[in-house]
Amino acid sequence: MISTSLLPLETPTPAHICPFDQACSYLEAAARELKLDQGILEILSNPRKVITVSIPVKLDSGEIRVFAGHRVQHSDILGPYKGGIRYHPAVTLREVSALAMLMTWKCALLGIPYGGAKGGIAIAPKNYSVGELERITRRFISELIKDIGPSVDIPAPDMGTSAREMAWMMDTYSVNVGHAVPGVVTGKPLSVGGSLGREMATGRGAMIVVREALKDLGKSLQGTRVAIQGFGNVGGAAAQLFYEAGAKVIGVSNSTIGIYSETGLDIPAVKAYMTANHQSLLGYPQATAISNAELLTLPCDVLVPAALENQITEENVNQVQAKIVAEAANGPVTLEADRSLQARGVIVLPDILANAGGVVVSYLEWVQGLSYLFWDEERVNREMENLMVHAYHEVVEQSRKREIPLRLAAYTLGVGRVAKALSDRGLYP
Ligand code: NAD
Repeated sequence: MISTSLLPLETPTPAHICPFDQACSYLEAAARELKLDQGILEILSNPRKVITVSIPVKLDSGEIRVFAGHRVQHSDILGPYKGGIRYHPAVTLREVSALAMLMTWKCALLGIPYGGAKGGIAIAPKNYSVGELERITRRFISELIKDIGPSVDIPAPDMGTSAREMAWMMDTYSVNVGHAVPGVVTGKPLSVGGSLGREMATGRGAMIVVREALKDLGKSLQGTRVAIQGFGNVGGAAAQLFYEAGAKVIGVSNSTIGIYSETGLDIPAVKAYMTANHQSLLGYPQATAISNAELLTLPCDVLVPAALENQITEENVNQVQAKIVAEAANGPVTLEADRSLQARGVIVLPDILANAGGVVVSYLEWVQGLSYLFWDEERVNREMENLMVHAYHEVVEQSRKREIPLRLAAYTLGVGRVAKALSDRGLYP
């Protein structure tokens, strides 16, 4: 494996599920398939810039706490760095670095002119008040002020962050530079230049690629049995859209509990229940309570992991019954589990394709903002759908032509485009 001298090994994660090692393994497999030069592979294996800042914040109690905030800028070969900011207790620098690398391949695969980045703070947002979260977010962005910008690096929401945090980030950046800069983040509220369709975009993209994969099998979404892990930005939107398209969403879950209904859940009713019940699924009447582990092994046609990484592993992969796994989360299937699913003929729609709807609409938001011309939702969804469907077919065609699995096909397309741009641009000096 290529050395990654820029990254300290701060977490003793077992090697087989270290997200950064996993990301490098996929990169190396693509490089072998493409017969990439070793020097190019070494450049692409290392993030261009790794930033860790200290974020001192006064809590509501008056106590001062210092948090560590990371931003990893993997590559800007194709355009400005682009990637979400995650607030979750499991955030580590290596995880953020892996996710930054995935963003590079994802943008290249979708043909959008961005590089890849990611950021995060290891906190559980529910343990902090809104005021504390605002102070954490604003100080984080002010520490990053010289490293971000609409043509430099453009953050977006990820786990634990949403349009609210993006508005704080946009405001902090704008106040510091002295004028409004909506293009510095995407996933903003509509009131400050957000795009219609952004909130549902990642879930919509996942639904679109599943629909295309079913079409290739001579099937449709109508009546297809779908189980979804994670009921947040991505999983919640995916559940709604699968439901609206006529699929039977038989199970959903969040971090504490899952619910299952053999005949299909009424997703709008589940959402209304959660709104009235402090965002909890606990006690939902028209379903059976199940664990998160049980959700992954439900008898279904399509499994959509939309929460964390490393959810389908060597331990549970043999119990997975789905015929299609659509990786709406980043890295939910480990390397070994991926091989096992492949061997069983399960179709795995890889994360860099299946969850790309979010960055596509982020790109459309940025384009609308830069041109001061905003589109209706129908146009945003149509443009996104075109890019997703095109990328899906490119991946399937690459897989068929090279006789390789879909994930490797997606990687060869993404990595190949970045490598080509790198060799065309040449090395400075
Ligand atoms: P979110 O914070 O809105 O929702 C996360 C969901 O996962 C919540 O329902 C939470 O309860 C659940 N969850 C947390 N820990 C869990 C656990 N241990 N087991 C099961 N469920 C758990 O986050 P999100 O924005 O929906 O992101 C989910 C995934 O999708 C992440 O991997 C993220 O990187 C990826 N993603 C998000 C976007 C986006 O636009 N938000 C885009 C691309 C990829």
